[in-house]
Amino acid sequence: MSVIRRRLGWKLFLSYLVIILVGVLTLAMAAQASTPTALARHAARMESALGMMQMMGVDAALIDDLNQSFVTAVNEILAVAAIAALITAIIVSTYVTRRIVGPVQKMQQASQRIAAGDYDERVEVTGADELAALAHSLNNMAEQLADIEVRRRELIGDVAHELRTPLGNVKSVMEGLVDGVLEPEPAVFQNIELEVTRLQGLVRDLEELSRAESGQIILEREHISPADFIMPAVERLRLQFEDKGVALEVILPPELLAVHVDPWRMTQVMLNLLGNALQYTPFGGTVKLSVEAGRHQLTICIADTGIGIPAEHLPHIFERFYRVDKSRSRTGGGSGIGLTISKHLIEANGGRLVAASPGLNQGSTFSIILPVKT
Ligand code: ADP
Repeated sequence: MSVIRRRLGWKLFLSYLVIILVGVLTLAMAAQASTPTALARHAARMESALGMMQMMGVDAALIDDLNQSFVTAVNEILAVAAIAALITAIIVSTYVTRRIVGPVQKMQQASQRIAAGDYDERVEVTGADELAALAHSLNNMAEQLADIEVRRRELIGDVAHELRTPLGNVKSVMEGLVDGVLEPEPAVFQNIELEVTRLQGLVRDLEELSRAESGQIILEREHISPADFIMPAVERLRLQFEDKGVALEVILPPELLAVHVDPWRMTQVMLNLLGNALQYTPFGGTVKLSVEAGRHQLTICIADTGIGIPAEHLPHIFERFYRVDKSRSRTGGGSGIGLTISKHLIEANGGRLVAASPGLNQGSTFSIILPVKT
């Protein structure tokens, strides 16, 4: 009984058997029910023939015998039909079982291997029925799991890589102090403080990234003018622009339509984009912030005359930890996650963030496109 419960093939076979048995029983009962009538009809015809037969000298025992052989013939036909149906049931159920149970077993084995971590496992998809759709879904799931696994490994590798440099610097300075190679001067401690601040920044960015990627950032959206989130960022960075000798031009149309966004998060994005523009624009350059209002959308452009982004790097610029010039950004304190977080934040606010650059040393433009409330 437990074999039947565990095996789909047996269940299918038994279901066929039940259908055949019901069919044969119905046929037998119908035959039983209709045989007397058929027999009576047969007998009536026989009787008329009997008169003739008696006249010809055929006796009653022979007629009885004829009736009996009629019933036997009916039963024989029923028995042959039942055996033929049973054999057909066995053949059909074996074939159907192979067609259904075979792929199901293969999928079950594949899913076990996937669960054990073999994400390259795939099942063959044949036909276009529900089983094929199930195989497709299983393959899709394996592909997505493989993708997640690759990203997980990359993330661990990236984080370890990011932590190694500042920790290594702190360790060598500490060793220098312990060995007496370095004097315990304020500059040495400032160096350590800088590295620790960098580590704190990285941890903060990672927390923010993890929240953004899992959609856990809670937005407090309001209908506000874009100036309300642009100007706080501009004011906060104005002095740094002056210090570096980079001009900051802000061009805002006097009347701006409201957008439905979280002001604090939008200021955070503006700080990241303006901060990058400042970081990657050398002395004497210009950063221009402008707002273009269309009928259905509003575009905030931050265009700089800085080092630009080569075309082959542009498609990757929003990937986490991606830096065009790895060494330059690291010394500048960038973790390479700022743009990833910004993109998530803009999308959470219903907009899009795009980057453009004609090429190396030809400046870059980052545009935030937001739907406007009409
Ligand atoms: P980071 O903290 O390294 O600046 P981001 O995610 O903000 O990280 O930026 C990712 C990379 O994109 C930077 O390392 C830099 O190579 C490139 N980038 C960003 N903004 C600009 C820009 N305005 N001009 C040139 N390159 C830029």
